[in-house]
Amino acid sequence: PVEARHLVKRFGDLEVLRDVSLQVGEGSVTSIIGASGSGKSTLLRCLNLLERPVQGELTIADETIRFDRNRQGDIVGLDRRQLQRLRARVSMVFQQFNLWPHLTVLGNITEAPMRVQKLSRKRAIQRADHYLERVGMADKRDSYPAFLSGGQQQRVAIARALAMEPRVLLFDEPTSALDPERVSEVLSVIRSLADEGRTMVMVTHEMAFAQEVSDQVVFLDRGVVGMAGTPQDIFEGSHNERCRRFVSPAA
Ligand code: ATP
Ligand code: MG
Repeated sequence: PVEARHLVKRFGDLEVLRDVSLQVGEGSVTSIIGASGSGKSTLLRCLNLLERPVQGELTIADETIRFDRNRQGDIVGLDRRQLQRLRARVSMVFQQFNLWPHLTVLGNITEAPMRVQKLSRKRAIQRADHYLERVGMADKRDSYPAFLSGGQQQRVAIARALAMEPRVLLFDEPTSALDPERVSEVLSVIRSLADEGRTMVMVTHEMAFAQEVSDQVVFLDRGVVGMAGTPQDIFEGSHNERCRRFVSPAA
């Protein structure tokens, strides 16, 4: 349910995304790989509308938004309500968890459903408990983030994203900030979400994991899609020289 067409994003003179198109089918998992600075996080942030592309179109769950700057530098046709609707369909999990330190685990998860979706406290707590159970963190609902390991914090962050009941989940290097022994507990939660048919787009450096769970892998190369295909296309004999070197630097 995600389609990006010809997205362009610049920061000042730096063109970070140059005509990026991408399709993510309902219930599928797409991994985005590529060198540092190739624009992976920027692309993800554009899909979540945390960043506004300057050109192109984005469709999320049948609603399309077109980016086009007029001479004054404003983005034409960006209606606030539409922006909010689109944002509500997408939830993101960050590398650094970004939990609110002054709120308990439960508070972290109920905050947005209550404030943004206007759920009652009771409903928000029911929902939070459901998703905490889902990520194996039910017993920590009253703890503060500082008392949790990185892997536990990231699982709470995943529960928080799920509690918005989004159509699409985005992950930006969800395991990169974790101690090695904590990586697998987070990957297994993500794997189980893939198995239940959630639509996900994930930036990752975990190549073996990307190969295992993805339906599609996109190799981003200096702001363009260098190659996109099945894990097999990408990891076993890519025809793109730069992609081949990226996935198997020793070969
Ligand atoms: P990494 O693997 O290191 O996370 P990435 O592929 O996610 O890299 P991005 O974070 O998307 O790369 O950054 C792409 C380029 O855009 C980089 O050159 C970065 O410095 C630049 N950039 C990103 N965000 C901004 C910003 N807010 N303002 C200016 N430049 C930015
Ligand atoms: Mg990044």
